[in-house]
Amino acid sequence: MAIDGGCLCGRVRYQCAAESGGGHCHCIDCRKTSGTGHGSHMIVAEDEFALEGTVTFYEKPADSGNLIRRAFCAECGSPIYSTNLGMPGLVFVRASSLDDPNLFKPQMVVYANRAAHWDVMDPALPRFDGMPKPDELPESMR
Ligand SMILES: [Zn+2]
Ligand SMILES: [Zn+2]
Repeated sequence: MAIDGGCLCGRVRYQCAAESGGGHCHCIDCRKTSGTGHGSHMIVAEDEFALEGTVTFYEKPADSGNLIRRAFCAECGSPIYSTNLGMPGLVFVRASSLDDPNLFKPQMVVYANRAAHWDVMDPALPRFDGMPKPDELPESMR
């Protein structure tokens, strides 16, 4: 099933395939770029992500040292997606940009140790302090 999304002003639109997992990230960078306590990322394959319009990038290394490129709309400021040079082939779509945000099915919480006390987490989701190692990922994401 194709999933549609875009920015607030409509200059940036995208279509992607169904997600292959994802979750909430409470790291400082996701919080600062979110407008709230965390970023919610839906992971899709890069070759199944089709972008229309122009995004602007902000680049900053993650704790891992890998460069993160955050794509946002320069007109309205909406975060759209990010890529991680350490995880080639994947696009981390901001669930906030989905036309139907309920299509996102979060499967974990990362950087739970950096969460603001008021940003309450779903107790049903596995939590990690920092990023999980590949063998710690929820089974559906391995
Ligand atoms: Zn926009
Ligand atoms: Zn983060």
